Amino acid sequence: VATRPGDGAATATELGRLGASTVYVAESSDVNEVLVEPALAALHQATREVKPAAVLLAHSLDGRDIAGRLAVRLDASLLGDVIDVARDGDQISTVHSVLGGAFTVVASANRGIPVITVRQGALEGSLASAEPKRVSMTIAPSASVRVVIDEVVPAAVASDRPALRSATKVVSGGRGMGSVSNFALIEQLADQLGAAVGASRAAVDAGYVPHTSQVGQTGVTISPQLYVAVGISGAIQHLAGMQTAKTIVAINKDPSAPIFEIADFGVVGDAFAVVPQLINALAARS
Ligand SMILES: Cc1cc2nc3c(=O)[nH]c(=O)nc-3n(C[C@H](O)[C@H](O)[C@H](O)COP(=O)(O)OP(=O)(O)OC[C@H]3O[C@@H](n4cnc5c(N)ncnc54)[C@H](O)[C@@H]3O)c2cc1C
Repeated sequence: VATRPGDGAATATELGRLGASTVYVAESSDVNEVLVEPALAALHQATREVKPAAVLLAHSLDGRDIAGRLAVRLDASLLGDVIDVARDGDQISTVHSVLGGAFTVVASANRGIPVITVRQGALEGSLASAEPKRVSMTIAPSASVRVVIDEVVPAAVASDRPALRSATKVVSGGRGMGSVSNFALIEQLADQLGAAVGASRAAVDAGYVPHTSQVGQTGVTISPQLYVAVGISGAIQHLAGMQTAKTIVAINKDPSAPIFEIADFGVVGDAFAVVPQLINALAARS
């Protein structure tokens, strides 16, 4: 991990809580919110020292940026957007959901240490919290960091809900919600569950929510632990963005809606009757 000078100990403790047994810390004044170069340099150096079986990063914007450049620096294979990772001896293989989720492909790398980006939320499991061993590293200031950042102003965050791409739970609404004001029901259910809000393209096109909430082939591809689809028919382009979710719950008044073919749990009923009851039941349980 690359941190600002003085932040290394706290960051290592935080990673220990997530189960890290050893944390390589590079403190550098080059670290800021915008450039990935220090994180890339730190990871490159740690990878050369540790010689791991594989390097795993999140398939986030920064994760992809770092992974691509790291693979080039290591002259290694890059396996992107994987939904599972397996190890058989020295051989690492990865599972990919491709062509809109129509096929599942198993790939393995045969060049160097595989650099892997994992679809956020796709891997289950957790490690017991640990008191990590901290190894300090020094990374040379990068000659390629030529940009001087005077100020960083975070984009205004519209809500404190989890980000759609990395949320473990997502509640999505479709055209069946009927209007912007009705869509508030989706947001209430999401808040009750501590979930992110998603939507079908029809709901986005109808203006119920911004495009950033669109799940599917031309929107965001996600793999949460729980995906609740309300008033969404289950068009192939929507399924492409969410069918690798661990548990799928569908609420739709049409019993023949295709979403029920992939749902683990289905409720055939009117969203405006079912969802308020669900919210009340969840509120009573909490
Ligand atoms: C190139 C291309 C890319 C696309 N990309 C995407 C994409 O990224 N994401 C995406 O989602 N779509 C995408 N689409 C569009 C996709 O084909 C569907 O049109 C869209 O997903 C339908 O959205 P929907 O399920 O909300 O609407 P509909 O298909 O109209 O379904 C609405 C559902 O709501 C149910 N319903 C209605 N009223 C109620 C109620 N009161 N209670 C409960 N249920 C109710 C109905 O029974 C119906 O099943 C794409 C299409 C193309 C051609």
